[in-house]
Formats: sequence, structure tokens, C-alpha cells
Amino acid sequence: MRCLSPSPKAWIGAASLLMVAASPLQNSSPAQNSPYDIVIVGGTVVDGAGAVPVRNDLAIKNGRIVAIGRFPKATGTEVIDATGLTVAPGFIDVHTHADDIAETPRAENFVRMGVTSVIAGNCGGSALDVADALAKIRRDGVAINYATLIGHNTVRRAVMGTANRDPTVAELAKMKSLVWRAMADGAVGFSTGLQYVPGTYAKGAEILELARVAGNAGGVYASHMRNEGTQLEDALQETIRVGEMAMCRVQISHLKVDSPSRWGSSQRALALIDAARARGIDVEADQYAYTAASSSLSIRFPSWALEGGQDAIAQRLKDPETWIKIKNDMRGLLAERGFSDLSFAVVASYASDPSLNGLSMKQVAQKLRRSDSLDDQLESARMMMLNGGGSMVYHLMSGDDIERIMRHPQVAIASDSSVLPFGDGMPHPRGYGNNARVLGEYVRTRQVVTIQEAIRKMTSLPAQHFRLDGRGLLKPGYAADVTIFNASTVADAATFERPHAYAVGIPYVLVNGVVVVRKGEHTGATPGQVLANTVANK
Ligand SMILES: [Zn+2]
Repeated sequence: MRCLSPSPKAWIGAASLLMVAASPLQNSSPAQNSPYDIVIVGGTVVDGAGAVPVRNDLAIKNGRIVAIGRFPKATGTEVIDATGLTVAPGFIDVHTHADDIAETPRAENFVRMGVTSVIAGNCGGSALDVADALAKIRRDGVAINYATLIGHNTVRRAVMGTANRDPTVAELAKMKSLVWRAMADGAVGFSTGLQYVPGTYAKGAEILELARVAGNAGGVYASHMRNEGTQLEDALQETIRVGEMAMCRVQISHLKVDSPSRWGSSQRALALIDAARARGIDVEADQYAYTAASSSLSIRFPSWALEGGQDAIAQRLKDPETWIKIKNDMRGLLAERGFSDLSFAVVASYASDPSLNGLSMKQVAQKLRRSDSLDDQLESARMMMLNGGGSMVYHLMSGDDIERIMRHPQVAIASDSSVLPFGDGMPHPRGYGNNARVLGEYVRTRQVVTIQEAIRKMTSLPAQHFRLDGRGLLKPGYAADVTIFNASTVADAATFERPHAYAVGIPYVLVNGVVVVRKGEHTGATPGQVLANTVANK
């Protein structure tokens, strides 16, 4: 639903919020015979700060939580009976690719797993014109709150294309000015995606210079690091050094160990984060709760082969000698990481031939070449790259690493997902299920973390690190972003085979005091706000 025809409720919510700022007369609104707009009664409140759950009621007025205690039902214009349910702050997902939220403003996959705020622009990819992107979201209306980072790959591509070299002095100055512009326009930080073209060609000095610009404007530095397996510790050191030298907060994106040959090294990675924090560097991380990752097919190719855009890539893949070199590099990369072939790689979305969606590269090779040898798998990957490439799901993590990372107090829960149009392609199921999976699988079934700790990792922890003031806690004065779930039944329903399935056991979600999910269904309301950095303009 777009802004021209939002539900009446969305308008009421937005209007009340404006009135709060403008005039005390809002109290005399004729519709308000009760002191509160909404009371949530009978639930067990988990505050987001990590306190043990307590039985309490919540009162909401003008988009904000105004009181927590015990209230008669008659005190609310609307009463939500949360008997037997858990009442938590709305979940904050700081690692998303929800950059195109204006195209799918209901953001149903997010809000139906309890997410009320997202941060987009991760892994180096964002809108270049942040002012324009935020204006469009403000104008059209979206269901959940939205903030963005400014992406390094976006900025570098705008200035240098996909060149595999250092920037000139003038190019670096131009990139810095673009990062500054984005921060002044409301970006909440700077992101890198150092495994992707063209970010992968950037050295530390360039990243430091750009992160410093964002840091000076109050922004966080969020990094999809150069390596997440065989050189995980080196990559972490590089990222932490940026935070140390640029004096900015650091977010390690989707922390994982993505190589079987290095499984278990999450212990050393977390120790590096602890050591940095002990030195006063504000480093945190986020993770999603799945043993499979999602990325492009191209990430399996050596980065030197990806320079210069599709034509240049095709030329290399078509040249027999160069292709042999690429193939050897790919074999070497696989062996180093502990893989014997590409059976861990499953096609998620391949536009040129959707019949391959859902097949592993081993199955793709069997289908296309009547042989599933490693060589035929690599030849199939080459053919797919020549036809535009595709997006993949990679099964490459160990459950032990995921649990160890989840137990770390400075690791937030984040999906790494985009806004998913229902039924479209074969996306990673995390986009529908991540938060629900943590609450169902990791809290209730495996008991890896307590419910209050899991909620803290989804709310106040990321809110504070990304400076989303007034969000992430159930506390008077805070925005009424509220997720109400059944702790006994909450679960992810999306699987790798059937990813398009909404999370279950989350009957109510409120965004800025407006009900967006009621009895498990999306109301069509679009009360989301843009959460913009304001430090740069002070
Ligand atoms: Zn990433």
C-alpha cells in the first residue's frame, strides 16, 4: 500500500505524532475518551535491556510508550490482550539490504518476524544519493522504520568504476566528499563489502580515510570483511584497526567462519573483539542464525577475474588460457577452504534458466553436462557467469561456531536480507525467519541464550551501537515499537527448499504506536519513519 491510500490508522498515528511536537492540544482530540491510545495488557514484558521477564501492562499514546505498570482495560481506546504472550521492543535489524523498501513498502517478511526497524546500505552497497532515497521513503510511506549506511562500493564505483588500483588524490577526495554528503543527508554510517568488486581492490588506507569521514559525522563503520574463513583473524584485525585509527564505532557484519578448514576459529575471532574492546575500541558484531550464507555466484571466482564489468569478465572466461588460470585459482580457493567440490553451493536465483533454482552446483553439472565432476561443476559456473551470473545459497558454516558467536554479549541478531516480494525466486530463508528462528530454535529448543538475552541482542544492543535514540527498549518516552509473540510457539517456517513462509507465533507488531501486524496478519499500515543521523548537521 502506498502513501496515497494508507489505512486510516496509519494517518491517525502520523498525525498524532506531529501534534505531539506541535501542540499540547492533542489531548483534547475527540476520539480520545480514554487516557491511552492502546493498552497492552496481561503479557510478560521483556524490556530489551536484559532484565528478567515480568508480568506487566504497557500504555501507548501518540506513538510512544507512556507508562508501564498495571492498567484497567478501560484506559485504552484499543486494548490488546497479551495474556500468555511475551511483549518485547520491536526488533532492530542492523544488517539488511532493504534498500528497495520503497518498492515493497509493506516489508512483510521483516515485520512478520517482529522487525520494526532496519538499517540498509550494508556490504558496501547503498543508494548513492541518500537524500533522494530517504525523501522517497518519507513521501511514499513504509511499514517499518528505516535507516541507511553509505556504501563504499557504491561510492568507489561512482568515482573509479571497477578499476583494480588505488585511487588518485583527486579520486579519494571525491569519494570523501560523497561519503560526507551522504552523512549530512542522514546516513548513519559507512559500510564496506571487501569481498565484492570494486571494494575488494581497495587497500586499508583508502578505507580508513573514508571511515574517518563517517566517524567524524557520528557514524558507525560496518564491514563485510575481506575474508570470513581462511584469513578471518587478519580481516578482523584490519577492520578493528580502522575503528582504532578513525576513532569510530565498528560493526563486524554477519560474523561467521565460512570455511570448513577453519571451523572452530570463532573462538579466536571473538577473543580479538574482546581484546579490542578492552583497548577502548567500540567493536560489535551481528550474525544470522543459519549454517548457510547467501551471496553471488561471482564470489567463488578470483577477484582479478572480475575487474572491468561483464564484457571484460566474459572475455577472460572465453579465453581458453585465462579460463584455465581462473579454474586453477578456483580449485585452489576451494581446497584451501576445505571443500572438495561445489556441492555446498545451491542456486538461489538464476534468471537465464530458473529451472536450475534450488539445485546444487553438483546437480547443475549433472543436469547440464551429464557429469558431476568438479571440472564439470566449474564449467557450469563459467557458463552461468557468461549468462549474467546468479545468486546462491552456500552451506558452509558449523553449528558450533554459530552458537559460540551467539553467546557473545556484543553480537546482535541481524538477517542480512532484503525486502522479499512473496513467492519471488529462492531467497535465503533468513529473510522470513531469522528472529523467529533465534527465539524458537536457539532460545526455546537449544537454550543457547535466555529469552531476555536474545531480545537484548535484537533491540537495545544494536540500537545503542547505531545510535537509534529512543528505540530498543520498553521504557516510558521510547517509541512504541512493540513485538508481541508466543514464546512457546514462535518459530521460523521458511526453509531452504520453501523459503517463502512467514514466521509463526508473532500475533502483534506495532510500529510507532500503530498496529502493523494484528492477529498474525499485516494491516497495510505504513507508519515507519526514516531514522536519520543528525550529528553531521550539528
Ligand atoms: Zn555482506
